[in-house]
Amino acid sequence: YDVYGAPVLTKSARLRGVTIVLHDVTEQKKLEQVRKDFVANVSHELKTPVTSIKGFAETLLDGALQEAQLAEQFTEIIWKESDRLQTLIADLLELSHIEHAHFALKLTPVVLADIVDEVKTLLLAKAEEKDIHLSVVTDGDTTIEADPQRVKQILLNLTSNAIAYTQPGGQVTMTIQEKEDHVLLQVADTGIGIAAENLARVFERFYRVDRDRSRHSGGTGLGLAIVKHLAEAHQAKIAVESMLGKGSTFTVTFLKKHR
Ligand code: ADP
Repeated sequence: YDVYGAPVLTKSARLRGVTIVLHDVTEQKKLEQVRKDFVANVSHELKTPVTSIKGFAETLLDGALQEAQLAEQFTEIIWKESDRLQTLIADLLELSHIEHAHFALKLTPVVLADIVDEVKTLLLAKAEEKDIHLSVVTDGDTTIEADPQRVKQILLNLTSNAIAYTQPGGQVTMTIQEKEDHVLLQVADTGIGIAAENLARVFERFYRVDRDRSRHSGGTGLGLAIVKHLAEAHQAKIAVESMLGKGSTFTVTFLKKHR
């Protein structure tokens, strides 16, 4: 609490009492803490690849360049770490952009099946590389009022996660389901699943159930935070159901405003 005190005086300037104002700053402090944690997280996430890039470049200059095999191996690491840095910066810029007060969606009628097909085309190679079967279930020409670029981003993030967190031989399905007053966009996988105690936190920035696994698959820990923001900007709800070892289903529920 912030505390302010002021004396209350009678007409003859005698002290009658004291007024005390208690100002609840819990919420303010909480926000401040979230901001500090975010800066600490960003700094840490940036530091890790930079340290690695610098270290391997130094080793190359110190002589490793002379050994073809080492040189190739280290250059590969430098390339991978720069790539991860680039993804991280792109995700941070995207998050900062959509969190900006002036961020506005470009709403237009969107045929969801078109977006689902686009995302399938984009991710098919990645799925095949891992021997994951990527399929689509649509019910025709379901149309919603939305920002097509942003819906695509939502679906890309959810589906890349589904591929990343599913073992070879698994199945990833994108589904569109039209109900009376809403439309469901679902991404289901038969992957590693998420334990109940971690489920509520997966939409937090930088939260990862398994940090090494996420890093290994090129994750930044920001994908679902971006999804949540974009869904909310559409007044859509995002939900997740999961069972450890069985798989996960992420559902975005769009309201049909224009009927
Ligand atoms: P990341 O870049 O680490 O994938 P996200 O914000 O996209 O970050 O996801 C946060 C965490 O949620 C992941 O690190 C992972 O632990 C978990 N997660 C997300 N999607 C799935 C999924 N389909 N199956 C299992 N775990 C998932």
